[in-house]
Amino acid sequence: MRIAAISFPATRRAMVDPGPQLRPAVGAKLRRPVARLGRPPHWTRRQALSGTLHWLALAASAGFAVRAGAQDGPPVVPLEVTEIASGVFVHQGAYALFAPSNRGDVANLSFVVGRDAVAVIDTGGSFAVGQALRAAIRAVTDKPIRHVINTHMHPDHLFGNAAFAEDRPDFIGHHKLAQALAARADRYLAVNAQLLGSEAFAGTRLIAPTRAVHDRAVIDLGGRELILEAQPTAHTDNDLTVHDTATGTLFLGDLLFMRHIPALDGSIRGWLALIDRLERVDAKRVVPGHGPPIAAWPEPMQPQKRYLETISAEVRRMIKEGRSIAEAATTVGLSEKDAWLLFDAFNARNVTAAFAELEWE
Ligand SMILES: [Zn+2]
Repeated sequence: MRIAAISFPATRRAMVDPGPQLRPAVGAKLRRPVARLGRPPHWTRRQALSGTLHWLALAASAGFAVRAGAQDGPPVVPLEVTEIASGVFVHQGAYALFAPSNRGDVANLSFVVGRDAVAVIDTGGSFAVGQALRAAIRAVTDKPIRHVINTHMHPDHLFGNAAFAEDRPDFIGHHKLAQALAARADRYLAVNAQLLGSEAFAGTRLIAPTRAVHDRAVIDLGGRELILEAQPTAHTDNDLTVHDTATGTLFLGDLLFMRHIPALDGSIRGWLALIDRLERVDAKRVVPGHGPPIAAWPEPMQPQKRYLETISAEVRRMIKEGRSIAEAATTVGLSEKDAWLLFDAFNARNVTAAFAELEWE
């Protein structure tokens, strides 16, 4: 497969940045037994492809917990993961905003096991979730974790990075990821510490990429290659896609939302243009940033495309009619309300971002 690198006009950053999820923190400090931290299985509800292999972490099903690293600490319950293709494992995050009860476990997290090494694709919304992902990997294989890939800057995808520091991997991201994180680090940490509460947030710190992908990079895990492509501004200005060529599995991060409403933090014009390119990528299956752990490709892109096209058309009409951004935020996109989870949490912000971009056309 080839996602051609395409040139794209520089885009202003969206005024509204949905990274940290702005919901009042729940005041009460949770004191829950660690053993309850694993979520109940969701994969059975929506197994997207027949023949999908399910794999429950042996440790989780046996009620067995492992220590995370050398130091003593509370036992870590491995995340549930599904083996969606040979050597490709995905944990499905909850359809939720950051809350103490989910520890920031709201995005899909993956790992790919090669002959010699393991690559992780996104690490979750807190150190605790990263530790639980690492425990899930260690329940499958003891091969070295040499690569931690972040698909973009949002906290639910990379706040678990620190759990892999002891593995000394390359932390890999889009060439714009480091700067994007530097500009937002203080706010991301402060807001999400409040949303998760001190217990769920404990140990969380940002680890910036140590290796930048400028256009295209290939990672060799031994007998299988991952192709990484730095994409032009779309969901954010630092979206990185991963293609496991051995199985034809495409990891799109938040360039693809399913069921969970898309969140716009880059460029709506760029995203729609990139979707046209991505749809032509030759892959068998896709892992979305939010949604079921696996889906056939490229059909699942259609609802998101419809949503973004609807927002784009309605915003352009309101701009033409001289209506205000505030009016747009409360009226645009409402025909899509029933098609998405978390619509109320993101739609007005998406519309505001789209308005700020499109009014300068
Ligand atoms: Zn995102």
